[in-house]
Amino acid sequence: MIIKTTTMTKKPTAKETNSPAALKVAFEGANAWIEGLDRQPVNAVATYETLMNRLDVGLQDQGLAADRVIADLIAATEGGHLASAGGRFFAWVIGGGLESALAADWLASTWDQNAALYSCGPAAAVTEEIVGEWLKELLDLPRESSFAFTTGCQLAHFTSLAAARYAILKDRGWDVNAEGLFNAPEIRLMTSDQKHGSVDRAARFLGIGTKQIAQVATQADGTIDPADFERVLNSNKLPTIVVLNAGDLNIGAFDDFEKLIPIAKASGAWVHIDGAFGLFARASRAKQGLTKGIELADSWATDGHKWLNVPFDCGIAIVRDTVAHSSAMTLSASYISAATEVRNQIDWNPEWSRRARGFSVYAALRELGRDGVESLIDRCCDYCHQLVMGIAALPGAKLIFEPTLNQGLVSFVDPRIGATDDDHDRWTEEMMQRINASGEAFFSGTTWRGRRAMRVSVVNWRTSQQDVAHTLATISALLQKVIV
Ligand SMILES: *Cc1c(COP(=O)(O)O)cnc(C)c1O
Repeated sequence: MIIKTTTMTKKPTAKETNSPAALKVAFEGANAWIEGLDRQPVNAVATYETLMNRLDVGLQDQGLAADRVIADLIAATEGGHLASAGGRFFAWVIGGGLESALAADWLASTWDQNAALYSCGPAAAVTEEIVGEWLKELLDLPRESSFAFTTGCQLAHFTSLAAARYAILKDRGWDVNAEGLFNAPEIRLMTSDQKHGSVDRAARFLGIGTKQIAQVATQADGTIDPADFERVLNSNKLPTIVVLNAGDLNIGAFDDFEKLIPIAKASGAWVHIDGAFGLFARASRAKQGLTKGIELADSWATDGHKWLNVPFDCGIAIVRDTVAHSSAMTLSASYISAATEVRNQIDWNPEWSRRARGFSVYAALRELGRDGVESLIDRCCDYCHQLVMGIAALPGAKLIFEPTLNQGLVSFVDPRIGATDDDHDRWTEEMMQRINASGEAFFSGTTWRGRRAMRVSVVNWRTSQQDVAHTLATISALLQKVIV
């Protein structure tokens, strides 16, 4: 896309940097992108070399006019973006951006508040304080809990597990803030073998290595096997953090919270929930049964940028033990006034300077309302079910997991006579690549129970009934080409 710019190479002066010309170019570019989402290829069509050649113009001595920089950026990245903001992107668990949330995100950059302290951005602090309460209400979690808005669920895990580490060591008479981990009682982290990689990494950041992670076996439905859970739990008396899944990454499985959490709590463990997307099942009357007993946990991590459809850079940690949470995160410095009346985000987050994340969440919750969130969740689940069952019904495709939430699995059957399981794995990859190369829809793969599968994840508010039909028609046509 070629966008006309007002000025060419020119050193920006203070006055010109206040000119909104670049914002106008950005607005036009954003508009064109959004309007074109349905028509453009879902895959990225520009190659690595093309993008490198276009973007690497060298670090120049002379600056450019701001609008020219933005026009260049739009032109140079064309074809290099996935249309993950659109309705036919089903790979990983990405989510889209609601219109108001996107606009609020622009404003967050425009206002450029440092959302570390109330005094650095009063409106940002108050907005975050309000949306934290709204989320606890929406997700029906203990209202006395504290919360933090982080970059994503990864850092929400880190924040929650830092609180957990503080609390379980304090129970053993060890002050981790003062003493650190050297000579501290060894900590154990128990998770399922279907855990997300962000859990291990959060543990690693906190000085809990892979040798301290005890993996519990899961059953055919992807949930923790309660017998194995008790066996592992009782195998020693180390201070323990248990991480349970509310929507695992492959099939959206929910562990049996009602059963497991009381067992873990009785042994003195801290229970943390990975609900990156699945925690939002709480907002749907049809799906909330999956989360029964989840409110018994000690901490919960989720994302705003996945199912709530706010733009990236939004995770949420909710922690029942507010003292452990603030003890793990708080910071005092000589130039911070001890404001007690107001909420300072820095007391609950791992960052210092940070983006005002509350605005986009505030916008999303107001745009949708409770009903809108529920219908978003229900719609995604319905479309995921239609997609998975629709694909599985095609000749040459196979059902691997029928979705109970918004995640399902299919695979493709190598048509050659005598094809082995490895052949089917390769063929599943091949078909997935063909679908993605068509530009009509986009999926990602996974290994589930030792075999390759194509994962179908529906988390975008834009996905429509037409998108489902369009995707099924695309896959059907590609499979037919193979058969004839
Ligand atoms: C995406 C995801 C995470 C990590 O979240 P980020 O927002 O990417 O940091 C953790 N757990 C599950 C189940 C996820 O799907």
